[in-house]
Amino acid sequence: MQMERKQEQWTALKEAVDGEWIAQMAHALVEIPSATLQEAEVCRYFAAQLVELGFTVDRREVSEGRYNLYARLPGRGNGPSLTLNGHLDTIPIGGCVPCRREGDRLYGRGSTDMKGAMAAMLGALRALKAAGVSLNGDLWLAAIVGHEQPEAGKDGPLALVEDFRSGRVGGDRILIGEGWNELWVMSMGTMVFTIELTSARGGTHTTYVPFEENPIRFVGDLIRRITAYQEELDAGASHPLAGTERIDLGMVEAGDYFNRTPVQCRLTGTVRWGPRACAEEVLAELRELAAPIAKAGQLALEVSMFHEREPFETPADDPAVLAVAQAHRFVHGDGAVLAGKRIVGDANLFVNLAGVPSFYYGPSNETAHSDNEWVSLRRLEQAAQVFALAAAAYCGLNGAGE
Ligand SMILES: [Zn+2]
Repeated sequence: MQMERKQEQWTALKEAVDGEWIAQMAHALVEIPSATLQEAEVCRYFAAQLVELGFTVDRREVSEGRYNLYARLPGRGNGPSLTLNGHLDTIPIGGCVPCRREGDRLYGRGSTDMKGAMAAMLGALRALKAAGVSLNGDLWLAAIVGHEQPEAGKDGPLALVEDFRSGRVGGDRILIGEGWNELWVMSMGTMVFTIELTSARGGTHTTYVPFEENPIRFVGDLIRRITAYQEELDAGASHPLAGTERIDLGMVEAGDYFNRTPVQCRLTGTVRWGPRACAEEVLAELRELAAPIAKAGQLALEVSMFHEREPFETPADDPAVLAVAQAHRFVHGDGAVLAGKRIVGDANLFVNLAGVPSFYYGPSNETAHSDNEWVSLRRLEQAAQVFALAAAAYCGLNGAGE
């Protein structure tokens, strides 16, 4: 009896999602250019839509004229709360195809990354209101700026972190609307590292320095040691979702003249590692790996990192992840794929800095950042259905009797 009631409620909620409304909203959003740092106009438009839907909008200034937008669908106060999150900025339009709607597709910069998903989130809120259901816990929407381009220094996501910490925004879980019908629940950490070997001897004519004492030969040793480190990683535990960890080198710099020993040698590269360690621990491993080589060459060693981002992992059986999986199955009839990646995203920040378990599930991402960016309108409708049903499953549906 209760199962039947729930089935009815879920079907009604799914049917309350208006695909055409979402398509038009996505179209309108894509028509407003919003490269990172130039999001003011799209924010104004998005906020106005929220107001139209009956929400009070908290405009959180990130920098002059640029706002994160927060809205809350209040629950009855006796269930967990969920935050739907996404960004309104895009990479520059560049050579991207102009905005146009054609059949099932909406083309243009930001269509798949990720104004389509933002329209789907609005569509989900609208459906929850239209279906007249009330949730037990709050459902939040956090539309942010400053995600894409490094110039913004992630100011929008970091402002959201601050707002979670201060309680300006609630939400026991954050669902980021990026990706493609998969539950992306884990990302490796990443860092850029440099290893510097410095000789106290200064630059010396190579004729006076036996080759085995030349700092550059120790760079060779160090590269061999890094090769061995990767082999150790390959032989070690592989993450079930993201595979093995990686160390990569991008730059080797040493020397300034053909017959002079280099004063300083520098290797620069990246490491991508799993939830087993934090950035400081990985940095210590690099230091440990290079130390014997520096010592053998009587070279001063300096190992440093920058742009480091800690890994995150939200368990596959987390109640919010299960809620999205259940909603996905209801809409698509099959199970959502679980994914882990070597690339980092905002979830790394939200989990590690705000302490809120986060994960991704979105309508599409395949043409993100390409010059032929487009999104399937059908997928936006389905994503909105999944968002609305996931909120019902996680926050609790009043009267669902579960
Ligand atoms: Zn994106």
